[in-house]
Amino acid sequence: MDFMLTDDQKMIRDTAKEFSDEVLAVEAAEYDEKDEPNLSAIKKLGELGYMGITIPEKYGGAGLDTISYALVMEQMARGCAATATTISIQLSLVAEGFIKYGSEEQRKKYLPKLATGEVIGAFAMTEPSAGSDVGSMTTSGVKKGDDYVINGTKTFITNGGFADLFLLFVSTDKEAGAKGLSCLIVEKDTPGFRLGKKEVKMGIRATDTRELIFEDCKVPKTNLLGEEGKGMSIGLGLLDGGRIGIAAQATGIAQRALEEATSYSKEREQFGRPICKFQAIQFMLADMAMRVDAARLLTLRSAWAKDAGKPFSLEAATAKLYASETANWVADKALQIHGGYGYMKEYVVERLFRDARITEIYEGTSEIQRLVISGQLLKD
Ligand SMILES: Cc1cc2nc3c(=O)[nH]c(=O)nc-3n(C[C@H](O)[C@H](O)[C@H](O)COP(=O)(O)OP(=O)(O)OC[C@H]3O[C@@H](n4cnc5c(N)ncnc54)[C@H](O)[C@@H]3O)c2cc1C
Repeated sequence: MDFMLTDDQKMIRDTAKEFSDEVLAVEAAEYDEKDEPNLSAIKKLGELGYMGITIPEKYGGAGLDTISYALVMEQMARGCAATATTISIQLSLVAEGFIKYGSEEQRKKYLPKLATGEVIGAFAMTEPSAGSDVGSMTTSGVKKGDDYVINGTKTFITNGGFADLFLLFVSTDKEAGAKGLSCLIVEKDTPGFRLGKKEVKMGIRATDTRELIFEDCKVPKTNLLGEEGKGMSIGLGLLDGGRIGIAAQATGIAQRALEEATSYSKEREQFGRPICKFQAIQFMLADMAMRVDAARLLTLRSAWAKDAGKPFSLEAATAKLYASETANWVADKALQIHGGYGYMKEYVVERLFRDARITEIYEGTSEIQRLVISGQLLKD
């Protein structure tokens, strides 16, 4: 048992913190207000190699481990949770999709460009009537000659408006239900594909969340990722890893809320003394710190299990569930410590409170994580 990070992991974490403090944190409120992704920061992240940290070196990435990825995600989310979401989709879902399931040709074609951020990816699974129940999706991919012809609509797709590449989940065999799903690679300019409405959201407003519409959209059969009919296990397998990223994101939001509340409590005076002198405030801070610590440890444990090649589905679900509930609880307490000021947009905790909420919803709701955990518990 060793709780120490390596020197390299510490350096990666500290460098990410510097970028996050100097760029993301400074610009987060502006992009939240504009309801637009911070594309210039995303470009810089690509240039600095963050979009490829877990992509193997032979495909142009840094080849770092999942622990380093979780450390980077936490730091980036401390600065701007929305921009961290873009990194997590790029790495945990899209790049990892090619690494785990792609052919050598597909890897060579897409991974180097994903690593530099020249290509931004999106992961398109959810449909208007198929959210938690992904197996009930109806977007179809029908084989015709050398192509799949796609028809249907995806909803709530992160990075949708500016992504160059989509991992799209479709039904290639309606009769087989969840066993008839497949994953197709769709490039943005493919005829028959267009963007639908842009969602206006409560939090992570600097992400672009879109509807995707496919009308007789043809992609060649060579755009199949992995095997036909294995879409469900590919999608759920990627989401297992994705949950480590979301747990780290939630930890980052919670850590920032704790920092903001701690410093505010030292500055704000009431009844002739800083509010941090009141035991009620001290106890809130102590409980917040305890939960952030536990969220981080669960997150790093799940990253460690993935790196060690062990099963990590249970660990990732546990980390995601705990860290996301922690982010919401801690952001709520941080806002309380700010009193009325915390309710105002001028203070960071107002945004953290809104941004925290999504972590309990995407990549499997808290109820779905509880199903994963109880399913393992009740097995046999
Ligand atoms: C901002 C944002 C970004 C997103 N980005 C992406 C993306 O990039 N790609 C993508 O594919 N999807 C994305 N999603 C979709 C997201 O993953 C889904 O919203 C989520 O999985 C829940 O699906 P749903 O919204 O249809 O809710 P539903 O599945 O309809 O759930 C409604 C409620 O019922 C509960 N529930 C459902 N089934 C059960 C059950 N069996 N037992 C107990 N409770 C249950 C849920 O937990 C929830 O509380 C995004 C969503 C949002 C809001």
